Amino acid sequence: MSFFNSIGRSMTRSQRPKRSPTPTSATFSPSEMPPPQPPSPTITTPKPLYLSSPFVEAALVKGNFKTIVMLPKYVDIMEWVAVNIFDFYTNLNEFYGVIAECCNQQSCPKMSAGPALNYTWINQDRKSVHLAAPTYIDYVMTWVQNLLDDDNTFPTKAGHEFPPSFPSTVKHVYRQLLRVFAHIYHAHYHQILHLRSEPHFNSLFAHFLAFGREYELLEVKDVKGSSSAPVGVGQLWEAWRQMGILEG
Ligand SMILES: [Zn+2]
Repeated sequence: MSFFNSIGRSMTRSQRPKRSPTPTSATFSPSEMPPPQPPSPTITTPKPLYLSSPFVEAALVKGNFKTIVMLPKYVDIMEWVAVNIFDFYTNLNEFYGVIAECCNQQSCPKMSAGPALNYTWINQDRKSVHLAAPTYIDYVMTWVQNLLDDDNTFPTKAGHEFPPSFPSTVKHVYRQLLRVFAHIYHAHYHQILHLRSEPHFNSLFAHFLAFGREYELLEVKDVKGSSSAPVGVGQLWEAWRQMGILEG
């Protein structure tokens, strides 16, 4: 089932992003590219804990996520995507809220997601800028919350249609939520472990990945990054695919 194909060609023509009035709206396509980094021959990166046993296998949901993400009978695909995005956002926001005191300007001066990967933000002058992770994440979460609250984007009232830009908007949302997951895994996994929340967090993220792939909301290149700047969670995705938790 293709979410995008199901909406038809006419939708894709009108998706060129309009500037929405929120201050963060011009910034939802941050550059992929990390700043050039000098080679650092002395650094050998240890395997992150989230890729290590038993944490990599920890899950609330056992087995494959395929059936969980399937469109239920009689449910509109837009509604299904909207309600799932709402749930992913709400759950991720709660997790981040718990660890937020450990994610500050000192601990996380950059929005990191791998040993050589810092996400940059496109500001209103279309310039790519580095932000501290808490600032970046605050921008993402505020932007998503505003979209969810906007009945023109996520209609909740009977008779209101989803706008033609909905698929493109949710793809942007997905990409930014992925970055928040990626930062938490990379920089704050020990705090997740400290809370003994790794089964819950892993299941939330696996569900997010499975849903994103099923409805074409998630690009593989965003999950894996580039060879010079891999996303830490890209390896987690590979590991879960090998374990049969996720499909291709
Ligand atoms: Zn942080």
